[in-house]
Amino acid sequence: MHDTREPLRERALLIGLERSGHDKWAVKDSLEELRELTESAGAEVIDLISQKRDRPEAATFIGSGKVQELAARCRDSGANIVIFDDDLSPAQGRNLSEVLGLNVKVIDRTELILDIFAQRARTREGKIQVELAQLQYMLPRLAGLWTHLSRQRSGVGSRGPGEQQLEVDRRRVQEKIHRLDHALEEVRKNRRVERGGRQRLHWPQVAIIGYTNSGKSTLMNELTGANVLAEDKLFATLDPTTRKLRMPNHQNILLSDTVGFLRKLPHHLIESFKATLEEVVDSDLLLHMVDVSHPQAREQIKAVEIVLKEIDAWGKPTVMALNKIDKLDEGSTLLENFCREFDHAVPISATNRTNFDELLDEIANRLSDRRVNVTLSIPHDRAKTIALVYRSGYVTSREMENGRVVLRAQIPKVLAGELTPYVVEEGS
Ligand code: GDP
Ligand code: MG
Repeated sequence: MHDTREPLRERALLIGLERSGHDKWAVKDSLEELRELTESAGAEVIDLISQKRDRPEAATFIGSGKVQELAARCRDSGANIVIFDDDLSPAQGRNLSEVLGLNVKVIDRTELILDIFAQRARTREGKIQVELAQLQYMLPRLAGLWTHLSRQRSGVGSRGPGEQQLEVDRRRVQEKIHRLDHALEEVRKNRRVERGGRQRLHWPQVAIIGYTNSGKSTLMNELTGANVLAEDKLFATLDPTTRKLRMPNHQNILLSDTVGFLRKLPHHLIESFKATLEEVVDSDLLLHMVDVSHPQAREQIKAVEIVLKEIDAWGKPTVMALNKIDKLDEGSTLLENFCREFDHAVPISATNRTNFDELLDEIANRLSDRRVNVTLSIPHDRAKTIALVYRSGYVTSREMENGRVVLRAQIPKVLAGELTPYVVEEGS
């Protein structure tokens, strides 16, 4: 019979392993996060299933009895997708698909994240990065796909044509990867030129980092009026946005909103998104957003720190924004504890604009060593140099003296270095 109805929304069963003494994140929390991710991707979650096991079963990740149980659950509940909370090897994915049948899609956390990235990417760079990561993920799994399909179709292991087809496909995918790599390099070159332009002004770069959904985009919007997509979905932002912000002390900074961090972000995924994270690596200061109202706030902080280490951005000057204080119960001692535990932490509410002054003060303090008070004496016909001082710093007085312009200003230290011939006085 031919079914002409619209394809149903995907109905998902989520599966995780409960390992004794293995993970600080209980399987329940991890599955809850997987639920949020799944819903972000647009599927409906039917149930969360866990199994107690110390190590994944080599062939099928979960035990064979559990696989049978899972197959039955899929039939009874009409689930058409099964999502594993950890990465599946190509063989595990293949074996599970064989038992669960063609009507049930088997994917793992990485594929789910990639799917969300694919839906969210806006810029050309973002889109290319996602496609590359997807192809690289697919490549070792192609073999399985073919043996799986040929067996399903003929019931016999007719390897000949499948094997040839596989070689063709593999080559095609590799060629595509090669092309995308090339395209990505081009896009990046352009972006570097753009960034080079910005850097000539020597404004300190501040990267807003933090666990996904902690309020990074909201803060960016509230501070700069940038129209960054902020919503209650994991990974609402994939592409970094950078905006200029003039601080209360007249210091200009460049603020960028970055992709949200997640725990269990597979290493090769971080590798793929390193370019996006360049904003973080190259920044002068990290503004670490934390949702203090989240029960797993501390684990989220750790997950962020792990990624920072992976991309070599660990140890940079950091200001921590303890966000969403409006959601805390009255009289809660939580904030006190956080402030005691973490240096340079400022409680804020991004949506209510609470404590923004304190936050900006702390940022300015941490950046103060990047700025100097100088008196410059510049020949009046050096218009470009004079304009540069105005654009990159804060001029407090201007006088004419013997055909020279004398400026008192606060400017980036690096710029003072470049303007040494004109500096007549320097203080901090
Ligand atoms: P991002 O993933 O870190 O960029 O987080 P978003 O800025 O997209 O915010 C995620 C969700 O948290 C949104 O629904 C925001 O409205 C909400 N949010 C952000 N800051 C606050 C806050 O200070 N208080 C409350 N109650 N909600 C907030
Ligand atoms: Mg965001």
